[in-house]
Amino acid sequence: MKIMVLGGGGREHSIITKLLESSSVEKIYWVGTKNKKSLNKVEVVMNIELLDFPKLALLAKDKNIAYTIVGPELPLTEGIVDYFQKEELLILGPNKSGAKMEGSKTFAKEIMLKNNVPTAKYVAIKNVNHGKEIISKWGTPIVIKVDGLAQGKGVVIPKTQKEAILELEEMFNKYPKQKIFAEEFFVGPEVSFMALVSRNKFLSLVPARDYKRIYDGNQGPNTGGMGSIASWDLLTKEDTEFIEENVIKRTLEGLQKEGIEFTGILYAGMIMTLDGPKVLEFNTRFGDPEAQSILQLLDCDFAQLLYGATKGELPGKLPFKDKVALTMVMASGGYPGKYESGLEIKGLEELSCKVFEAGTDYANGKIITAGGRVLNLTTVGKNVAACREILYKEQQKITFLGKYFRNDIGL
Ligand code: ATP
Repeated sequence: MKIMVLGGGGREHSIITKLLESSSVEKIYWVGTKNKKSLNKVEVVMNIELLDFPKLALLAKDKNIAYTIVGPELPLTEGIVDYFQKEELLILGPNKSGAKMEGSKTFAKEIMLKNNVPTAKYVAIKNVNHGKEIISKWGTPIVIKVDGLAQGKGVVIPKTQKEAILELEEMFNKYPKQKIFAEEFFVGPEVSFMALVSRNKFLSLVPARDYKRIYDGNQGPNTGGMGSIASWDLLTKEDTEFIEENVIKRTLEGLQKEGIEFTGILYAGMIMTLDGPKVLEFNTRFGDPEAQSILQLLDCDFAQLLYGATKGELPGKLPFKDKVALTMVMASGGYPGKYESGLEIKGLEELSCKVFEAGTDYANGKIITAGGRVLNLTTVGKNVAACREILYKEQQKITFLGKYFRNDIGL
């Protein structure tokens, strides 16, 4: 069968790599990426934008594509699934109403409250003065969020009242048209819990964690993610069951009650507090770079699994290897601030672990940097130490000017 994959990052490269393990895959059309090294059975389509739904649908029909996988959130919140379904094309992802679980944090909060899903208490902030009242009543740290997609910049957690007021004023200036709300601050380790959903029925994926901040010890500004781990040991069996029952199942039932049929990936960003697991946010697609680790542990025909999911068919259980997977990101020096692009990358051919290209391009037969997060190295091992030993040795083979990575992935 032929499959179309939308999105240009390491996540999509890892999805494609996993699909290619299936003997049923004849060809993959990869849209939304830069020039990639030629991969067997993969055709990179560079002249179609990810939000140009009519052209994407035409390509799917022309090439007789069995189904499409949507990597990033924007096409989902803009309604690509509704468009494809109208054209009678199979696609993996939620429709526009389901994608609101990611696209609108207040919508997600309402669904959680109505269905008793554990999450932080919150209150809508009407204006700066109202915000000041809340800050003085609740104290700090306090979490302030904007409703819509903000590329990871829509959440601030000021530590003092003075800082909180400044942040609040900045948020109202920066997002004049968006709802802004305050949320209770939680402490605890975070876990990304994803489920593959087909018409509101689901199967859990192995839990994962991403390393969001730029510096070791989770310091410094937020990034798209500097590494990830996937392992059943991130959660106790009881916590896994709790999240399945009280978060994923209740949320999908809640969506059903609203008349929303959800298919795709439901991603619950969890924080494990002393008072139990709580939801911080929902996403409606694979996490990046969590997918890179998770998919390495999945032990079944991925292409057939997702094909089934687009048609309402899920197997009884998802088989995962009883191992650990680790992913480390090699970034451009300066990221997430300013960085240089177009720098030659060397050493890729010598790697013995998996490598997924994120911010790369090809020019004059050379691979060059073309983004903040450049490459992902991924490996599987019996435990974290075994994975770290491989990855931190392998990364030495990769060179490009300013190469940056975190030293504590997996710890
Ligand atoms: P992402 O980049 O993951 O999509 P986002 O902008 O959608 O982020 P959230 O995931 O809601 O925002 O929050 C980002 C991060 O802020 C969380 O991973 C967590 O570290 C922190 N955070 C959010 N809400 C809370 C909370 N209530 N208590 C403590 N920390 C929080």
